[in-house]
Amino acid sequence: HTKHNGRNGYHFFQPSMNALAQTQLQLMNDLWQAEARNELRLLYQPKFQAPSGPAIGFEALLRWQHPQRGLLTPDVFLPLAEKTGVIVSIGNWVLNEACRQLSEWRDAGHTDWSMSVNLSAVQFEQPALIDNVVDCLSRHRIPPEMLILEVTETTAMSDPDESVRLLTELTTLGVKASIDDFGTGYSSLLYLKRLPASELKIDRAFVNELRADGEDATIVSAIIALARTLNLRVVAEGVETPEQQTFLTELGCHTLQGYLLGKPLDPHAIANIVKNEPQRLIDPVHASEKSF
Ligand code: C2E
Ligand code: MG
Ligand code: MG
Ligand code: MG
Repeated sequence: HTKHNGRNGYHFFQPSMNALAQTQLQLMNDLWQAEARNELRLLYQPKFQAPSGPAIGFEALLRWQHPQRGLLTPDVFLPLAEKTGVIVSIGNWVLNEACRQLSEWRDAGHTDWSMSVNLSAVQFEQPALIDNVVDCLSRHRIPPEMLILEVTETTAMSDPDESVRLLTELTTLGVKASIDDFGTGYSSLLYLKRLPASELKIDRAFVNELRADGEDATIVSAIIALARTLNLRVVAEGVETPEQQTFLTELGCHTLQGYLLGKPLDPHAIANIVKNEPQRLIDPVHASEKSF
């Protein structure tokens, strides 16, 4: 294992190793130190009440400010973080930092905002997860129902019985659960019904191609009908056009998220909007044409 080798990590490089493998290995070494070196960041993407209501909460999205490579998105390092297990401590950092930020917002009066945090499959399987969630809530004095934990459909369905057990334990605390990237996995309807989730997020891929006459419209409309039958709130992610905004609302989506309404932002940018253009978050009806 190359954990904590720092500079010595270089001795793992073999001349025979291809460039891609070397890059990955270097990235892996750096990743173990990212948290200690204060290189992890969270951006927050707002979730809006459909069709054009206020922000009802934010989703924390992880970034890594790499000293040489700049700001990295999760697709570059998350698979590696999962494979090496470093996601466990990084995920715990995310949970804590997101709760700390929410409590800061709450102190500033935004007590109706919720915080959504993504959990990876590896994290979801950690026995310490429940304790970590309990600790975070009490440390930052967060009402449990203001924390939403997002688990992808694929993660939830990889061991459905265990997911039901874990999500039941989490929701018993009062925390909410959301099934992310829905439509890309293979859900058993029986398990979907048993999962104590309160929210279902339609994957961006379906929203992307959405046209009133298209095939995706049929799928999205079926997903929304299913979710509503199961008493789940429906969130559409990746909303990029006013047409999608209107159509998703007509189909029965409760919540909209996407570049049209709000990109992932750092806390300073959010504070500036609250200060200078509050209508963008509080009443975005007139601002929805331009994204920020
Ligand atoms: P996700 O949870 O499904 O998050 C939505 C992704 O879509 C985010 O990408 C977001 O920036 C992007 N997005 C939002 N609106 C739009 C839009 O209108 N158009 C387009 N093209 N994209 C949009 P991001 O931030 O790169 O995150 C990618 C994935 O990485 C997330 O997908 C989530 O699965 C994972 N992730 C992010 N942060 C964390 C984290 O803290 N922990 C874990 N375990 N996973 C995370
Ligand atoms: Mg998510
Ligand atoms: Mg998603
Ligand atoms: Mg996704």
